[in-house]
Amino acid sequence: MRGYLNVPANVYCERCKYCGSKPVIAITINSDYTVKCPTDDSHYHTKAGLIDIDDWNIHNTQLYDTDRDEQQLRRA
Ligand SMILES: [Zn+2]
Repeated sequence: MRGYLNVPANVYCERCKYCGSKPVIAITINSDYTVKCPTDDSHYHTKAGLIDIDDWNIHNTQLYDTDRDEQQLRRA
């Protein structure tokens, strides 16, 4: 990991479901992006590639229920 970017304040993102941290955008050695928990690499992180806040959100909803997923899909 070479560095971190903060998720822009106007982008909706969930907090880490394990520790409640706001995620950061990390740049890998291959210059890909991953959305990850800043506290612990073992917490959820998105696959390296494009910045995928939606994927982060889906995997960090506190209650993983389909209604909420559908709302997010509609918003996207
Ligand atoms: Zn975490």
